[in-house]
Amino acid sequence: YLSIGQLFEQSVNKFPSKEAIVDSERGRRYTYSQWNELVNQSVQAFRMSGVKKGDVVSVFLFNSIEFATIFLACAKMGAIFNPINFRLKWKEVAHIVCDATPALFIYDELLAAEVSQLQKADPKLRCWMSSTTSRADSLQTYIQNAPTTALPIEVNEDEAYSLMYTSGTTGKPKGVLHRHRDMIEQSLICMQALQLRPHDRGLTAAPMFHCAELHCAFLPRIHCGATSIIMSQFQPKQVLSIMEKECISVMFAAPAMWNMLMQEDVTQYRLDALRLGLYGGAPMAPILIRKLMDTMGIALVQAYGMTEMGPAISFLYEEEQERKVGSAGIACPNHEIRIVKPVYNETSATMQELPPFEKGEIIVRGTSMMKGYLGKKQATAQALRSGWYHTGDIGYKDEDGYLYVSDRIDDMIISGGENIFPREVEDVLFEHEDVLDVAVFGEPDEVWGERVVAVIVRKKENVSVEELDCFCQESAQLANYKRPRRYIFSQELPRNASGKIQKYVLRESVREIKT
Ligand code: AMP
Ligand code: MG
Repeated sequence: YLSIGQLFEQSVNKFPSKEAIVDSERGRRYTYSQWNELVNQSVQAFRMSGVKKGDVVSVFLFNSIEFATIFLACAKMGAIFNPINFRLKWKEVAHIVCDATPALFIYDELLAAEVSQLQKADPKLRCWMSSTTSRADSLQTYIQNAPTTALPIEVNEDEAYSLMYTSGTTGKPKGVLHRHRDMIEQSLICMQALQLRPHDRGLTAAPMFHCAELHCAFLPRIHCGATSIIMSQFQPKQVLSIMEKECISVMFAAPAMWNMLMQEDVTQYRLDALRLGLYGGAPMAPILIRKLMDTMGIALVQAYGMTEMGPAISFLYEEEQERKVGSAGIACPNHEIRIVKPVYNETSATMQELPPFEKGEIIVRGTSMMKGYLGKKQATAQALRSGWYHTGDIGYKDEDGYLYVSDRIDDMIISGGENIFPREVEDVLFEHEDVLDVAVFGEPDEVWGERVVAVIVRKKENVSVEELDCFCQESAQLANYKRPRRYIFSQELPRNASGKIQKYVLRESVREIKT
């Protein structure tokens, strides 16, 4: 293989005057050859400031052309690209910076308040500010003043490239390290799943610091020579009007984002060019998938995966959406998925593969697997056992080998000795027409060990607990012991950047509430 910098240069050579990257809101448009110049200047600027091959460059930026340019500059010079969630507070960023020890930290001017705290705590941290106003010491000035000559690319496929901190729904985030080749594999897999072509125009509205957008949607477009339109943040009305204006043909969005789009009147927009929507990164209730198919009237592909695997490990393709609704599909090319349970003897545990419809832990191996967690031998060995990544997700396969993701092992509720998967309960509640959003989890119960709690975001304020409970009782899909025993109404649910509900936040916050 080549490295990602070389793949980018191939696209530059094939499509020099084709539009490569666009910031529609600010009216900035670059062809592949113009963008390449910007990337080359960035490499020069980094070199001049002392950044070397193998160094980490952290970016604390919103989606932007700058973000994308630094991503490729790191690829060309063999630096490790470390994107950081722009919603994090300075102490959370400090944890990452302390672990990743970046040679350079690039941040958006709008995040300056958090960064000034960070700099107080870590005065040696080398920072560049990305700024739209002209300043002598901004990222933009450093790039503009650097020569445009391309330096030779001396990077091979086995070198580290991407360092992403897992969203950490539990515990402190760990740095997932991917090599060039892991990401090229992932890019090829996604190109195939999306049937991506050079004439495609993709919208990047989901956060680029998360691998679902960066590795599954954005990188494949560079790889094949397509066009990317970048939005700084996801605003449903804005997304729809840019889709229309820029003739967007493909887009990835997390389930929560698709849900927001469906609340809008999409018929008001001309979305003729839109041919495919990718969803995933978090569970989506079957009823919402059906609604999405009806509302958008486009082909849909679901991806299931995790940062550690690059991320996608399975796809549910467009022609299977109806027949296998609720499934996460079949393992990607060059990947295998197994459902296992541990069998213990006196000295060790072996993993036994389970037959169809039996639930167990989802384990996976494949070519886009991470190298490991940065500086964490033990955590890496714990996650990658005998070459298999242990996902911490519970699921099963049907008789055709299609995967169904039930829940996180840690989120499973045990009530009266019975296992309850919150997703089953959530999927049923989503079917109620007045439910906009829902999260189900367990809380301690003196009699049953745990009991089921549902936090509901209502569409209409007048839907009552009695009505919802009645709805669950009448559902043919929900055994009595799975019914929520407590309902809490809320204005919104705490979600992380990839759209996953932060159940630990909910558990904490409802503890004090009496109903
Ligand atoms: P992350 O740590 O942010 O990479 O998130 C990975 C986790 O997101 C997985 O282990 C799953 O629990 C969840 N996830 C990702 N994609 C899907 C999907 N299509 N359906 C259900 N859960 C998903
Ligand atoms: Mg994870």
